[in-house]
Amino acid sequence: MKAESPGALVRSILSSRLEAQGFYAQGFIGAHAFNSLLGETGVPAGLRERYGTSETRSLAAVALNYSSGIQTMPDWAKEAAGDSPESTEPRLALARFARANWYAEIDRRLLLAVKATKVEAARLGIEIPGTKAWKRLVNSALPEKALALGAGLGWIGKNTILIASGSRGNSSAVLIGLLLCPIDLGLTESSTGEGKPVPGCGSCRRCVEACPTKALGDQGGFFDRKKCIQHWTHIDEEPPAFIRPFLSDRLYGCDICLEACPYFRPDESASCLLGVLGASIPARALLALSASALKTSLKGTVLDRSWISPKALRRNAALSLEYFDKLRPKAPRGMEDDSNYDD
Ligand code: SF4
Ligand code: SF4
Repeated sequence: MKAESPGALVRSILSSRLEAQGFYAQGFIGAHAFNSLLGETGVPAGLRERYGTSETRSLAAVALNYSSGIQTMPDWAKEAAGDSPESTEPRLALARFARANWYAEIDRRLLLAVKATKVEAARLGIEIPGTKAWKRLVNSALPEKALALGAGLGWIGKNTILIASGSRGNSSAVLIGLLLCPIDLGLTESSTGEGKPVPGCGSCRRCVEACPTKALGDQGGFFDRKKCIQHWTHIDEEPPAFIRPFLSDRLYGCDICLEACPYFRPDESASCLLGVLGASIPARALLALSASALKTSLKGTVLDRSWISPKALRRNAALSLEYFDKLRPKAPRGMEDDSNYDD
């Protein structure tokens, strides 16, 4: 029997440590396949330099299955929410993946997996580079989906979202993380995902039919950003008339095509204590803060991104107040205001 190379041994340790960190799916790609994928997807030289891809000898891709039930609200928003469960204070919804900072959670778990791998490898007499040399990327500008597919993490659904295939089944309630590894992990083939059968969407079209703005086209597998509600929730530009009704009670994101998917399976046992925002934020709490104060309040959350405009979030809050006002039952004519009526 052929002895395992030190690289393959480290991969096997890393794989078990990633599993111990609760990742839903994981896979590896060798340097050659990694660079080919960067080439095929047209990643420019400047971006490769920024991420130091030339030093990457192997890539690990992971998918974390998030929980959708996080309800805790940050302190700055609590007061405006009202204490009573019957409070009718208008609230703005957050997409499920944004209710806590699952990106930071992926980063945290990747770091722990690398640290544990280093300890175990050293115990076996294999020295590997320190944690700084292992670049952890989440929500990066690299072609995450293409790399996740290359590593055999699953398939891209007709809603253009990764549906991960893991030991616990298939789920589209996942976010992707990448680990650029500074050593050759002994991949004799181009990736660990090659030849792994994935179920695919088949004749299902639920997401395509559910998207209210037809952003997924007629057949799916296509995505028109300008028609996507999520896109308009975070940019300053005035939303077109056909999008405005859908901003009614949204702060950020849109889960409609995800929720329509039979594979949308959040893991309610998954825990993330980082950047918690909860399911909704009172519109008035947002409006009470200036755009710069809001930016400070959102630090460390998923909404703390350069492309998410605090101005747009405040606009969403103002729109929602108009929307909720229209929903409020009106007093019958002649009884609009009886506050001055004395018995
Ligand atoms: S996120 Fe919403 S608007 Fe965008 S494609 Fe999905 S259902 Fe359509
Ligand atoms: S809803 Fe159906 S077609 Fe759309 S991503 Fe899910 S399985 Fe695929």
